[in-house]
Order: sequence, then structure tokens, then C-alpha cells
Amino acid sequence: MDLNYSPEDRAFRAEVRRWLETNVPKQELPALEDRKAWHRRLYEAGYVGMLWPKAYGGWGTTPMRQAIVQDEMARVGAPPPINGLGIGFIGPTIIVHGTDWQKQRYLKKMLTAEEIWCQLYSEPNAGSDLASLKTRAEDQGDHFLVNGQKIWTSAGPIADWGILLARTDSKVAKHRGISCLLLNMRQPGVEVRPLKQITGHALFSEVFMTNARADRRDLIGAVGQGWEIAQTTLGYERGANSLGRVTRYAAAFHQLVRATRELRRGGRPLIEDPAVRAKMGRMFAELEVQRYAALRVLSALQNGESPGAASSITKLSYTEFEKRYYETALEILGPWGQLMSSREEFEDVDTSSGEPGTWATAFLWARAGTIYSGSSEIQKNIIGERVLGLPKEVRADRLKA
Ligand SMILES: Cc1cc2nc3c(=O)[nH]c(=O)nc-3n(C[C@H](O)[C@H](O)[C@H](O)COP(=O)(O)OP(=O)(O)OC[C@H]3O[C@@H](n4cnc5c(N)ncnc54)[C@H](O)[C@@H]3O)c2cc1C
Repeated sequence: MDLNYSPEDRAFRAEVRRWLETNVPKQELPALEDRKAWHRRLYEAGYVGMLWPKAYGGWGTTPMRQAIVQDEMARVGAPPPINGLGIGFIGPTIIVHGTDWQKQRYLKKMLTAEEIWCQLYSEPNAGSDLASLKTRAEDQGDHFLVNGQKIWTSAGPIADWGILLARTDSKVAKHRGISCLLLNMRQPGVEVRPLKQITGHALFSEVFMTNARADRRDLIGAVGQGWEIAQTTLGYERGANSLGRVTRYAAAFHQLVRATRELRRGGRPLIEDPAVRAKMGRMFAELEVQRYAALRVLSALQNGESPGAASSITKLSYTEFEKRYYETALEILGPWGQLMSSREEFEDVDTSSGEPGTWATAFLWARAGTIYSGSSEIQKNIIGERVLGLPKEVRADRLKA
């Protein structure tokens, strides 16, 4: 693993820094149209879709350069791009499994955030056990008729399109009867009901489909291939972008250091309290561990390797860390944590409140990380079975001997 920046990378960093100095918006951007405009400028500068092939509107550059852009954006607190689900893992899934027509029709508009995407996988009784999903798609020849309900759909309230898993055959084994379709969210048969989260935001939703229509040309892969396609999506989703997250935590850490210098408890700055210093030291050490773990993934990607099932290790590690991180920050800040805004930027646009997040909001939001993209327990099962090669289940009678 080579963790050194080449002279070209250093020159690129200087160029990104200069661009951000003149272009970062001076005020917050709560409105979707403003976020889209900022996203578009980032894209045109070459800072969105950096790893996507040029043939599909991307920039075909290196993971290292993408990491440099994320690093520099976190440093100045620039609003992140939007359409994270589309660009992070739905688009890459279409690139792997889609037809030429699908690639030409959808990918560029996804990159430029002209069309926002959501993921219609989870259902009220099919989350960890996703293969039990019940939403039906009936083959009508030139289209599929979709009926059912999805839940926890991030970006649902602002989405134009969704990648959908639906049952096309209920007579075969449950994993084999699923197909993957692209669904137009702006049609009468699709109703989106925003769900309010513990943070007060409504970033996700329930989605009800009643005789909704998905064109046959929007079927990804073959009928019955949906489970295999879902594994591609989830692989990108879990492995994606751990360094980008670490740079955000690092920016928040520097903000916390500044706050502990300014805030006083018992007549002296918080940072002079030995208990606070010990906690900050532990946080920093853990942050460094996360940074090196993320660099290891980056180094693998740079060498053309895919993290595969091992992406579960990264996902488990940084989401559990994030919870400890914000819990410790709140312990240090005490009541100020409820009032002070944090640098944590939500990747998608909130449609329910224009309020900036506090440290307490970031703490609450951190709970979500160990649930979405497969809970921590599920990641442990995957690591046990697919990374370590442990048996799927340990039968009690085999333990007796
Ligand atoms: C913020 C957020 C955003 C999300 N966005 C999306 C989205 O855009 N699209 C989408 O499709 N879904 C989305 N989800 C849904 C997410 O994928 C599911 O919540 C997740 O897969 C868990 O499913 P569940 O909520 O049904 O919990 P359940 O599967 O009911 O799990 C309940 C508990 O049981 C444990 N458990 C379940 N099975 C096992 C097992 N076999 N072994 C050990 N423990 C087990 C789980 O770890 C968990 O603690 C989002 C979730 C969150 C929190």
C-alpha cells in the first residue's frame, strides 16, 4: 500500500483548493434548486462522478483524486453533492447490468442531478431478510404492473426515479423469483409519504405502488435476476466512500477542538480538563485507525481490486465508530451540544425543515448508520460466513462433542 501523494496529486490538491476558495457558496443551501445548481457546478469542474467512465459522462479519474476532492471539500465545509444513492451505487449497478439504451437514457442525467434517484428495496417485513419482499410486478408484455409497499426510502420525497426489487414469480425459491426494474416515481400509481425521523428531518419515506407501470425496456438484466443485481448494488453501497466519511469526521474533530478552547466550565476552558483531554485523545486515535482503514480500501481500489464482501468490515467499523464518536462529543460538550451547529452535512436534501443540524442531531443521525445498508448484525454474519468462511449455522447437536 502506497500512502504517499505523488507530485501530480499534490498539484491537483492545490488546484482543487483554489477552485473551492472562489466557488464555495458563502451561505447555507437549504433549497433543492440551489443544491442542484451547486451540484452542477461541482460536476462541471470535474468533481462529481470522478470514478465513472467517461463514456457515461464521468471523469474516469483515480480513487486518490476523488479522495483529495472530498478531503478539500470537508476542510472548507463545502456542501456535498446530492443524488448520492444514484451516483454512489444505482448508476454503477446500471453500468454493470444495464442495456445500452438504459445507460444512454439515465446515467448522464443522474450525474448532473437533473434526475434524482432512490432505492426501492426494503419493505415493512423485508429488511434484513430482503428476499422475503412481497411487492409484485406482473408481466404485461410491453410493461410490468407494480403493486406493493416500500419503506425507509431515502430521498423518496424528491426522487424522480427509483431502482425497484419486485417479485415476478412466487412459485420458485424466494431468491430466484425477484426482478429488478427502474420505476418512474412521477406517475399517478406512485404515492410517497415522508417519514419523520428522530432528528426531526424527513429524509426518507414510505412508497405505495398501486397499478404503477414500469416499461419492459426498464427491466435490468433478465426476469428473475433481481437478487444477483441487488448484490451488486449492496457491494457498492457498503464499500463506498469510507474515506469521504473519515474526512468529514476529521473536520468535525477540528471544530470540536476549537469549541473546547472557547467554552469554559468551572472557570477554565474545557480543553484544560484532564477528563476531556483523555476523551479527545481516544477519539483522535480511533479517527486515525479509521483513516488508515479507509486508505487501505482506497489503495485496493487504486490497484483495480474490488473490496467485495470485505466491504462489510469497513461498513461495520466506521458506522460503529461514528456512534461512539458523537456520543463522546456530546459527553464533552454537555448542554452546548444541543445548541451548537455541527459541520455534519446531510448528503440528501431535507424537505421538512431548513434548520441546520446540531451536535445532538449528528449524534441521533449516527444511530442510522448501523441499520442502513444492512445492520451491524447482518454485516457480522456476512464477515463470518463469506470473509472468514465460518459455517452458516452452528447446530446444537454438533456442539455436544
Ligand atoms: C436512515 C436509513 C435509510 C435507509 N434508506 C433505505 C433506502 O433508501 N432504501 C431501502 O430500500 N432501504 C433503506 N433503509 C432500510 C434498511 O436497509 C433496513 O432498515 C435494514 O436493512 C434493516 O431492516 P429492518 O429495518 O426491516 O430491520 P429488521 O430486519 O427487522 O431487523 C431488526 C433487528 O433484528 C436484527 N436481525 C435481523 N435478522 C438478523 C439475523 N439474521 N441475524 C442477526 N440479527 C438479525 C437486525 O440486526 C436488527 O437489529 C434505510 C434505513 C435507514 C435507517
